[in-house]
Formats: sequence, structure tokens, C-alpha cells
Amino acid sequence: MINHHPPLELLFDYAAGTLPEPVALAVATHAALCPMCRDDIDAAEALGGAMLDTLTPVPMQEGALDAVLARLDEPEVETLAANSIAASEEGAHMIPGPLRRYLGAVRAGGWDSLPWRGITRALEEIRLPIRMPGFKVSLMRLAPGATVPVHTHRGVEYTLVLSGGFSDETGEYLPGDFACKDQSHVHRPVVDTDEPCISLVVLDAPVKLTGMVGRLVNPFLRM
Ligand SMILES: [Zn+2]
Repeated sequence: MINHHPPLELLFDYAAGTLPEPVALAVATHAALCPMCRDDIDAAEALGGAMLDTLTPVPMQEGALDAVLARLDEPEVETLAANSIAASEEGAHMIPGPLRRYLGAVRAGGWDSLPWRGITRALEEIRLPIRMPGFKVSLMRLAPGATVPVHTHRGVEYTLVLSGGFSDETGEYLPGDFACKDQSHVHRPVVDTDEPCISLVVLDAPVKLTGMVGRLVNPFLRM
């Protein structure tokens, strides 16, 4: 059961194709796991199409409205449909489709087959090959019981839980849950599940750690 979804405006921007690739990847991966947001994206795409139609300086064709309404009933867009089947059939160990193409040859296996790189004893990371200035896109694997130092954000941090889970001041996040934090949030995530927490994390600016530990660790988190 997914309890935390991307804000609606993010789904609309995704449908309009205006999100930068790293953020679009986070939204697409969430949508691969969340039928509710897939429906919202479909509706936004249909609405966007209808609005484009109204911009053309010719009378609306007869049946255009019916065509739009029919689109609202259509199943999800093809790319996401394939991903969602994989995600639902294989469960938590399957890597959602939108992510797989960034992980190359290791995509056939589950999470354990990926080339994790140790950052600390409790944190492993894989940088995804998206080279977009200002963004850092990674898979993060935190050990059970691990805490992330209290931090706030210079930009926006998008986190999508893929396996395991964590909690912070704003609630509990389990597979499929999407968190979106900006400089107004100071938080301290704790991995409170028995298994490691694997998340897709998209940063559009480096996190800013606020505590004593943070001041020590901060240089390592620079992009
Ligand atoms: Zn959702």
C-alpha cells in the first residue's frame, strides 16, 4: 500500500514532458509501482491533448470530445504498462523498468546483483549514468538501523523507496512511497525495517547537514 505520492503538479509536469530527466525518472519509477498515479498521468496527458486541440484555429472536429473521454478510459501508456507488470509479478526484488535501462548489463538480477559502492559501513551507493548539471542521481542502500544525519536541503531531494523502508518526522516510507523535501524540511531518516532500505535519490543540489556530525561529513556529500 503506497501512502506517499508525488505532488499533483509534478505528475502534470511529467505528463507534459517538462521535467528534467532525473526527476522524470523518479516520477516514472513511482508510476510503475502506483496505479493511482498512472491514472492521474493518463488523465493529465488526455487533458493536455484536449487543450492543444483548443489552440488550433480550426473548429473542433465532431467527436473530438468523445475521443478525449475515450482516452481517459484507455489503459496506461505502453512504456509504463510493461514496467508495472514486471514490478507486480516479481515483487520487491525486481528492479522497476524505468530504472533498469540505467543499470545496463546487471539488470537481469535483483538488487543484490548491482555494483554497490561502500560509502560508510551503513551506506552503499550506485551513481546512475545521468549527467545533468546540478543533479545527482543515485541508488542508496542503507543498512537496517542506520540513521542519516539530520539535514536540510539547498534544493529539492526526491526519494523513492524501492525495498525496505525508513521513517522520519513526516511518517513511514515503504516500497513505492515518494518523498519530496526542500529547504523548509529538516529531517532525520531512520531505517526501521529488518532489511536494508534501497531508495532512488535525486538531488537537485547537495544536502546541507545541520548537526555536529553533519559538519564533519558534509565535504563528502558535495557533488
Ligand atoms: Zn502514486
